[in-house]
Amino acid sequence: SKPGATAEANRQDPKDTIFAKIVAGQIPCKKVYEDDLCLVFDDIAPCAPVHCLIIPKKPIGGVSDLDGEEHKKILGHMMVTIPKVAEIKGIDGYRLVINEGVHGCQSVRWLHIHIIGGKQLSWPPG
Ligand code: ADP
Repeated sequence: SKPGATAEANRQDPKDTIFAKIVAGQIPCKKVYEDDLCLVFDDIAPCAPVHCLIIPKKPIGGVSDLDGEEHKKILGHMMVTIPKVAEIKGIDGYRLVINEGVHGCQSVRWLHIHIIGGKQLSWPPG
């Protein structure tokens, strides 16, 4: 995405993002998994055969906003949910990505972990 657009997104309140609307059920998503703390859905512009996003249900803008025990619980829960997602999707190797802030190319200011797989990935990324 354009640097200007990314900078704009990073000034956003997470409650004003498209993922807030997805959590609220106001816009549809291709749901993969859901529980009380997190939601997993297919990325709308997949960069691999499997490309899901796991997001907290509570509004957290990004990694730089993380602080305190509640966030530890939520993020720990998201991490242990990832192997369940891999099993649902039938992938046995994958990459997890969190883009943080303008320089990290984060475009949606609601914390999300990309789960990318379903093919042989290459390394290092750009
Ligand atoms: P980038 O856009 O640079 O990949 P992010 O890490 O913020 O930065 O990723 C946002 C992701 O959200 C993108 O992969 C994008 O395709 C995805 N996305 C945006 N809108 C939707 C939507 N409505 N449903 C599913 N995925 C979406």
